[in-house]
Amino acid sequence: MAKAAPSIDTLFSVGPGGARSFLHPAAAHGRFTRLRHVGFALLIALFVALPFIQINGRPGIWLDIGRRSFHVLGLSVGPTESLLLFFLVAGSAFTLVVVSALWGRVWCGWACPQTVWLEGVYRRIERLFEGDRAAQLRLEAEPMGLNKLWRKGGKSLAFLLVSAAIAHLLVCYFVPPRDLWLLMGRGPASDPEVFFWSAALTGLVLFNFAWFREQLCIILCPYGRLQSVLSDEDTVVVGYDAGRGEPRGKPGHTKGDCVDCGRCVAVCPTGIDIRQGLQLECVGCASCIDACDEVMGKLQRARGLIRYDSERGFTGGKRRFLRPRVYAYAAVGLVGLTVALLAGRTRPEIPVSLVRQVGMPFVVESGKVRNSYLLRTANKSEAAQTLSIEVTPGLAGASVTLPRNVWTLPAGESAAIPVFVEVPKESFAAPFDVTVRVQDQTGRKAELHAQFLGPGR
Ligand code: SF4
Ligand code: SF4
Repeated sequence: MAKAAPSIDTLFSVGPGGARSFLHPAAAHGRFTRLRHVGFALLIALFVALPFIQINGRPGIWLDIGRRSFHVLGLSVGPTESLLLFFLVAGSAFTLVVVSALWGRVWCGWACPQTVWLEGVYRRIERLFEGDRAAQLRLEAEPMGLNKLWRKGGKSLAFLLVSAAIAHLLVCYFVPPRDLWLLMGRGPASDPEVFFWSAALTGLVLFNFAWFREQLCIILCPYGRLQSVLSDEDTVVVGYDAGRGEPRGKPGHTKGDCVDCGRCVAVCPTGIDIRQGLQLECVGCASCIDACDEVMGKLQRARGLIRYDSERGFTGGKRRFLRPRVYAYAAVGLVGLTVALLAGRTRPEIPVSLVRQVGMPFVVESGKVRNSYLLRTANKSEAAQTLSIEVTPGLAGASVTLPRNVWTLPAGESAAIPVFVEVPKESFAAPFDVTVRVQDQTGRKAELHAQFLGPGR
């Protein structure tokens, strides 16, 4: 049984016995809700479009797990580019940290896929079949009959179809849409792994959006838990102006502006009462702002009793927008993104690496010193690639042995090409540089260096 009113000490969405207390938030109407729904539509359109648009002959986003290469908006990162990937992820994560320090959980309320799909799609479908909060509560209390059956059944079927669509779109981020379409035509036996993931993701998405919902934000999401560390008294959050609202009570009987109508609680997707202060469950969705502004409008009072402001602002202080922690987070994020950018710009145009062969660093045989290297490369494109290889030792008299100077690699294939460099023993005085230049048929180049080692004199 659900508790009568939210308490700051307990989870409203969990009943007294520990069982789930399902929430039925009312629909909010107002400027923030309208803006959020426009944002949701754009984000969903982007999510749908990204695997379908083609950039450099590849999907806009393609996470090719099999070849361990990731293609994002024309940028391709391979398995050997973990440094680039690390700094890219770290830089992006710190950008989110800066946003959190400035505007709290704006990501959660406005752009997180959990919110976007739940509020932008599933909640709308639910209201289409079951009506708004009051009608949903009436339906819950109703014994099972034709009315309840078709409403619940229709909603469940719609949820299942949307979940299957989302799951297949998610799979398109890993298997290009064209390939997935062909696989679907051939049936599950053609690729049981892809079929398994499509089915498992459909079940997971359905479970999450039909039932688990706000529990993911409250129980599972680590980002929400980090908020207390990332934010301070100057962070902009959704809050209640207690100085203006209290003492609360019915209109005409109170000096405070809050008329205790409960609309802010009714619209809250996590079931909390923002008047009790900032809480872990608040995802910053601004629904309570719109709900309260609507009430204030009807009472012809100024809106903003619940509003975006900082803790300092709510207590009458002057909010500082830029402050040391924001500069510190921004500096770390900037370093990460700059290093990623530099790593991206300076990396070879062709994914190649030159390593010394395993074993002795050099071999002395028949009066010659020999060093053996491996030139590793991979063709991540969709067409065959022809590579020309040129090896230049930094010592006159050194000779080079290569199986071939020109290699043709089929699409998706990789190669490890042995490279041998030899010098007469009497010519070797000190380690010297060996330069390997690789060029493909489109003119892309890479230059690699290795040291030639030999016996000391
Ligand atoms: S308290 Fe307000 S902003 Fe926070 S989750 Fe509830 S409705 Fe959204
Ligand atoms: S919606 Fe506004 S007036 Fe109504 S209870 Fe909430 S804070 Fe008070």
